[in-house]
Amino acid sequence: MTFKAEYIWIDGTEPTAKLRSKTRILADGAELPLWGFDGSSTNQAKGHSSDCVLKPVYTCPDPIRGGGEGDVLVLCEVLNTDLTPHESNTRAELAEVAERFAAQEPVFGIEQEYTFFEGDRPLGFPVGGFPAPQGGYYCGVGVDEIHGRDVVEAHLENCLRAGLGISGINAEVMPGQWEFQVGPLPALTVADQLWIARWLLYRTAEDFGVAATLDPKPVKGDWNGAGAHTNFSTKAMREGPEGYAAIITACESLGEGSKPLDHVKNYGAGIDDRLTGLHETAPWNEYSYGVSDRGASVRIPWQVEKDGKGYIEDRRPNANVDPYVVTRLMVDTCCAALEKAGQV
Ligand code: ADP
Ligand code: MN
Ligand code: MN
Ligand code: MN
Repeated sequence: MTFKAEYIWIDGTEPTAKLRSKTRILADGAELPLWGFDGSSTNQAKGHSSDCVLKPVYTCPDPIRGGGEGDVLVLCEVLNTDLTPHESNTRAELAEVAERFAAQEPVFGIEQEYTFFEGDRPLGFPVGGFPAPQGGYYCGVGVDEIHGRDVVEAHLENCLRAGLGISGINAEVMPGQWEFQVGPLPALTVADQLWIARWLLYRTAEDFGVAATLDPKPVKGDWNGAGAHTNFSTKAMREGPEGYAAIITACESLGEGSKPLDHVKNYGAGIDDRLTGLHETAPWNEYSYGVSDRGASVRIPWQVEKDGKGYIEDRRPNANVDPYVVTRLMVDTCCAALEKAGQV
């Protein structure tokens, strides 16, 4: 007997990488082998030396094909033929940083916002016009406000059947816009799972004849963009009595010197279109943090201030951010500062 392994990888498309996948039939009980692909078709190699290598890094049941029968989704990292990380492989760099700061036990919860499209307009936008202005759509109910719930429910079910640590879903501020959250989980795990959850989103929506996009500003003008708020904590931040001091150290570290720009320029293509200072965002070129402040770059939830411990929310990352990159930058910046301050 055989099973189907869907090998999934992140390509070299610029400025925002895309997901690719292909299927391999394996004999029952077989280990997942290294595999290859044509890198010249994914912006990862030139035609005269086109082979790239797929190395499995994260495997889960395939809910589309019925994971019960042994079919699996296999997230891979891309290697060169000498088995060194390919230049498009941002996971390898995260693995190094996560290892360096593992003792601080950093964990992340990422809020993935996205938008459904039918043809050239967001689901729920009338042909040649606009729906009623924003106000009633966020967490709404009813056909006048909600568009695509059947797809969202099917995606949630698929994520759960794949065993992903998805922690919730909600309808967003713009019609046709939704969110799911993954985490809290360690950096590599949350990022691997977010990539799988994104693949499942596209794949699930395919069956409903709609497209899902991570475009950070799918409709110009007075419509919310799509982000990927990244919630972060270390053991010291989660545990009192010095938790709050550690939280402040982390917030301050993100504002030091060149850090705000170092982060923002790696938080997804088109970030200046979304971080305008309007629509619950802080301007991309000004760093700020505050309690309950949805107009700040980084928010400390009210409950966290009250408890004197918990986590912080970096509200800047775009929906199209690479989770391997945002988690690496946050661990690198915050954990180094916490180490320096002796708050570990
Ligand atoms: P918001 O109020 O910003 O919409 P959500 O409920 O959508 O918040 O998302 C909050 C995210 O923060 C969830 O993914 C949750 O798992 C995550 N989270 C909760 N506690 C922590 C923690 N201690 N460290 C990191 N992430 C956390
Ligand atoms: Mn949210
Ligand atoms: Mn949201
Ligand atoms: Mn949020």
